[in-house]
Amino acid sequence: MLKNLSIKNKLIAIMLLVTIPSIVLGFSIVIVYDVLRLKKDMLKGTRLQADLAGEACVTAVSFQDRRGVEDIVKKLETIPEIQNGFVFDANNSVFASWHKDKEHPLPAPPPPSKSFHQYKKNTLHVALPITYQDKTCGMIYVIVSTKPLAQNTRNRVISLILVMIGLIPLSYFLALRLQGLISQPILKLARVTEQISVNPDYSLRVQKEGRDEIGILYDGFNNMLEQIQLWEKKRDRAEAEQQRLLEELADKNHELEQVIYVTSHDLRSPLVNLQGFSQELGYSLNELGNLVKTLEAAPPTTKEKFSAALADIFDSLKYIQSSTVKMDALLSGLLKLSRVSRMDSTFEMIDMNRLLSEIANGFEFQVKAARVKLQVGNLPSCFGNELQVNQVFSNLLNNALKYLAPQRAGEIKITGEEIKGNRNHPRVIYRVEDNGIGISPEYHKKIFEIFSRLNPDDTEGEGLGLTIVNKIIARHHGKVWVESEPGKGSKFFISLPTLPIPISNTTNTAEPTTPPPVTPDR
Ligand code: ADP
Repeated sequence: MLKNLSIKNKLIAIMLLVTIPSIVLGFSIVIVYDVLRLKKDMLKGTRLQADLAGEACVTAVSFQDRRGVEDIVKKLETIPEIQNGFVFDANNSVFASWHKDKEHPLPAPPPPSKSFHQYKKNTLHVALPITYQDKTCGMIYVIVSTKPLAQNTRNRVISLILVMIGLIPLSYFLALRLQGLISQPILKLARVTEQISVNPDYSLRVQKEGRDEIGILYDGFNNMLEQIQLWEKKRDRAEAEQQRLLEELADKNHELEQVIYVTSHDLRSPLVNLQGFSQELGYSLNELGNLVKTLEAAPPTTKEKFSAALADIFDSLKYIQSSTVKMDALLSGLLKLSRVSRMDSTFEMIDMNRLLSEIANGFEFQVKAARVKLQVGNLPSCFGNELQVNQVFSNLLNNALKYLAPQRAGEIKITGEEIKGNRNHPRVIYRVEDNGIGISPEYHKKIFEIFSRLNPDDTEGEGLGLTIVNKIIARHHGKVWVESEPGKGSKFFISLPTLPIPISNTTNTAEPTTPPPVTPDR
């Protein structure tokens, strides 16, 4: 019941719960003790009076002086509490009696055999022997009214109850004043905590007032605020630094992409010139060679020297041409890579079953030619840019076909499953699996690097397919990795989101228009 009360009311309630029962118990003990004491006093007084009266009657009773006894018993009249008095002789017959209420005299009680006392209905009965020289010569029996005792007790109980009633508001007042000693510092702490939770200002501190446990709590609280403040400063600095680095990185990335684009794009025109001119040079040399054959008149050594020089020029020309072809391939690769970040970045839910069937149709000829068994499972949808996701799966399928093992029939499987683990970031993992030549574990990361090729002489390629895959997947906040063993095949995994997520702010910078093909100047 106390649980939901405020600390202030809780403390007041606790103090009252302790005080009121203590007051009631204390006063009850006092009342009981008082009543017992009053009863004891009354009995003592009555016995004393009966004893005195009995002693006074000794002679009269011994000598059967009825009048003498009556005179003595009459003296009991002077004691207001005594209601009735009886004197029994040695034969247990009433010798004399006295009644305060003369009109309604009380019948004699049965003669007592020994001394006794007994409380009966508002009266106290006391019987004592009358002895003379150690011999009992009669009994005196006194009945005393206990009404004054009851009245006295009642008065005491009432006054004690009044005092008790007076003490309760006093206890409440004191509890109200004293609870502040404990509740105020706690409430102060609660107020500061609330203030901080509404407006997180960790520079606030609570002023310590004492060196008790609450003081220790204040110190701990202030210390905690200080730590948070320090931690916040560090975090702000780290965030600012991170932001600066991110901006720097974005600038550098952008710069790099521009450089790649411009160099790959602009270098192509001189390259085309180079290709064209070396071709032209080839034609001219051919003509020269034919001319040499007509120089019949020239001495044989001159002809030989001329032919050797021509052959050297032919060789150099071949090297120039193959280098320009290679350079051309590299530049067009770089250009392709730089185009990835310029691709359209409209993101939407992609029906992967439809997309993969389109891709598979596109590869139909190669699949048939290589006699490959291509299986595409039921694929869950994902959230991304369709053109870019198409590029990813095309590259992976292309590689799976390209790196098949010649000694066995090719099998390629494309599957996917939804990962429900993280409710805020649901994902789907696709798998492109082949039973081709496989990749050694030490190259599992390397193959995603630009221009990285493991068997450059066996197959054609630029070493860019997986770099592009990696770049596109990164733009989708996804992941790509490979599990593979040489000679057994490879499994490429792609994790993509299935819900819209903030996509990196890739600027869709417009590509400079491609210059018209350059024809060699003549
Ligand atoms: P490319 O195919 O033009 O060489 P990629 O970037 O697509 O460039 O691949 C990089 C290298 O990774 C390839 O040269 C090849 O050695 C290896 N590789 C890629 N896919 C597979 C695969 N499915 N099986 C075996 N090796 C592969």
